[in-house]
Amino acid sequence: MIDPFGRPITYLRVSVTDRCDFRCVYCMSEDMTFLPKPELLTLEEMQRLCAAFIRQGTDKIRITGGEPLVRRDVMTLFRSLGGMIGEGGLRELTLTTNGSQLTRFAPELYAAGVRRVNVSLDTLDAKTFSDITRWGKLDKTLDGIFAAKAAGLAVKINAVALKGVNEHEFDAMLAWCGEHGFDLCLIETMPLGEIDGQRADQYLPLSMVRARLRKTWTLQETDYKTGGPARYFTVAETGARIGFITPMTHNFCESCNRVRLTCTGTLYMCLGQDDAAEFRPLLRANASDAEIDAAILRAIARKPKGHDFIIDRATAEPSVSRHMSVTGG
Ligand code: SAM
Ligand code: SF4
Repeated sequence: MIDPFGRPITYLRVSVTDRCDFRCVYCMSEDMTFLPKPELLTLEEMQRLCAAFIRQGTDKIRITGGEPLVRRDVMTLFRSLGGMIGEGGLRELTLTTNGSQLTRFAPELYAAGVRRVNVSLDTLDAKTFSDITRWGKLDKTLDGIFAAKAAGLAVKINAVALKGVNEHEFDAMLAWCGEHGFDLCLIETMPLGEIDGQRADQYLPLSMVRARLRKTWTLQETDYKTGGPARYFTVAETGARIGFITPMTHNFCESCNRVRLTCTGTLYMCLGQDDAAEFRPLLRANASDAEIDAAILRAIARKPKGHDFIIDRATAEPSVSRHMSVTGG
């Protein structure tokens, strides 16, 4: 699949639920209305769409959400997609999770063929963790992270950089990740969905963070890539990597290789734009594989050039009204 700007589209992110057991301040408001269950694709419908994408050249799938591990029976999807790794055409199956359920699921994920997981952890301080996630417990996420490591999964820690909240912790987090062999990826907050507060109050440009980290750490340039948007450096002192996802300060759309499927079967060709293609009606009208394949190609032919994110005090409205938990982070 090649989009109108010549970018090969090889990476599909699938949000399997918009629900979550946390309410992170940058992601959701405390009082969220979730989608009614009948609107959700079944796991079989998701599997069928994923198989269609793999037929069209997708070789990496990330399962996300909401919190993917709170979707009932989600392991059946991991197992069926895991069966497509290798000769089935899939190179990598992975997930992004808040870690709260990993003690239970890490061994099963490994058995299904998952080898890497991204766990969101914005702080190592229990009180700050409760403040950010509202409903989460630091210990449970840490137990999940170490269960993933023990199960043989490579762990990457994702942290959203939040002004005045966790910005003083990045040195400690880098050291902690180095000690345990985890890569760390810092993310700029993006203006997605209404939250209870001002994005401008949260937003911290990572260009500043990187300059600060360089005072303590030797960040060596590397061309390491995971297929995602992060730019990575090797931390000479620990040997681990640090990545920066900078949608605000450095637009990386020119190398975008991905599209996002929501749990209702809506395909967003860009995280930061509203244009979308609906697959649920096709699936429920018993469309043939050929019809689904053709609909995917039509959608890819509409992929926009990039996002137009703005975070400033003059712009109170989010650039995109849907939350990250709907589109899938
Ligand atoms: N619940 C899982 C988790 O937290 O890892 C998966 C879904 S979550 C939406 C995926 C990633 O998006 C997380 O790393 C989260 O920190 C990030 N995220 C959520 N809202 C964001 C926003 N407005 N800007 C930047 N990153 C955001
Ligand atoms: Fe849930 Fe992940 Fe959003 Fe936090 S970032 S509220 S864990 S979906």
